[in-house]
Amino acid sequence: VVGIAIDVGGRTSHTAIVARSLGIPAVVGLKEVSSLVRAGEPIVVDGNRGRVVVKPDADTEKAYARTKREYDSYRRSLERSTHLPAETLDGHRIRLFGNIERPADARAVAKNGGDGVGLFRTEFLFTDPRRPPTEDEHYSAYRETAENLDGQPLVIRTLDVGGDKILADPALEMERNPFMGLRSLRYCLVRPEIFVPQLKAILRAADHGDVRIMFPMVSTVEEIRRAKDMLEEARSELRRERRSFRADVPVGVMVETPSAALSADLLAREVQFFSVGTNDLIQYALAVDRGNERVANLYQPAHPAILRLLSDIIRTGVEHDIDVAVCGEICGEPIYTMMLLGMGLRELSLAPSMIPEIKKVIRSITMERAAEVARTAISMVEAAQTEKFLHASLRQVLPMIF
Ligand code: PEP
Ligand code: MG
Repeated sequence: VVGIAIDVGGRTSHTAIVARSLGIPAVVGLKEVSSLVRAGEPIVVDGNRGRVVVKPDADTEKAYARTKREYDSYRRSLERSTHLPAETLDGHRIRLFGNIERPADARAVAKNGGDGVGLFRTEFLFTDPRRPPTEDEHYSAYRETAENLDGQPLVIRTLDVGGDKILADPALEMERNPFMGLRSLRYCLVRPEIFVPQLKAILRAADHGDVRIMFPMVSTVEEIRRAKDMLEEARSELRRERRSFRADVPVGVMVETPSAALSADLLAREVQFFSVGTNDLIQYALAVDRGNERVANLYQPAHPAILRLLSDIIRTGVEHDIDVAVCGEICGEPIYTMMLLGMGLRELSLAPSMIPEIKKVIRSITMERAAEVARTAISMVEAAQTEKFLHASLRQVLPMIF
């Protein structure tokens, strides 16, 4: 597959995320592209600008062929500096982690110059409709991933099913409003027979690397406490079974609901780290389905409400002395890098294929300029205006960016 153009979806739907992680150009939410193209016809898929040209004329094809050559040489130039540290011009070291979906993806993180894995999505283990994975199946996947990382951190996110991530469980399919329903951690807390084996496997895998555990879709402190009780239950079972494991695995939560964002100070007392899931945070805060092309224009990462939430979460994490990362797709979009750093963020987790470009941005800026950009962005009123400003600010420091 050399390119993907589809009628449905949004920039953070799962299709887009997988395409980005595989480095495949993709344009989603085109509404009618499938009816405009017949098999065998040439099309141009410009994933950088979100454009598709059906049956391009000779001039357009030539122009895009040139753009592609330029882009390929730009990517090659980025790849030549993957081994350099993600450090600003004034010496601030940023940690760049990869978001991965399979054990083998961990190698792509090292290849692209990443510092470890900030988000291991574990839903791939749950694709057999007949049964959930066994503890040993979980364990071998996590152990393999940890070993592929050679001592770098590995943040394993527990099952985040429901909403856009389908699990073949009839109880889930019946829901009328699945994004707000019994999904993710809520589902795990009522299904200990599914959850505890995953927790046990993570504790066992922690014997083989710097493994951390992360709970998704948290909206109350009680949920974290119940999840930690289940983690304790997992430890007790492992002790009874005389298994070897690491008991003191760091525990973190995804901040991806407005309630978690607004009570981050309370959550911070319960955990060792935050990872902000902007894909969901934007959808829940703005009441805009992240996968619905009909409202894609309202899915605005630069909305003032989102920028205020982000800056508050990061500040709260710093005040409580816990690590804060962001792992949503905005981390792979170069226009947001300066703003995020300026808000105080020091850890980003993104598609491995995007690490070289974001590293290039970081190595081209000063923290002082980043703070100015963040201050200006947060004072703006309309998301489109903010995005324009962020684009212009990026071009000032990196004119050759695509
Ligand atoms: C998020 O919500 O931002 C996130 C990183 O998780 P996912 O895309 O898997 O929901
Ligand atoms: Mg999420």
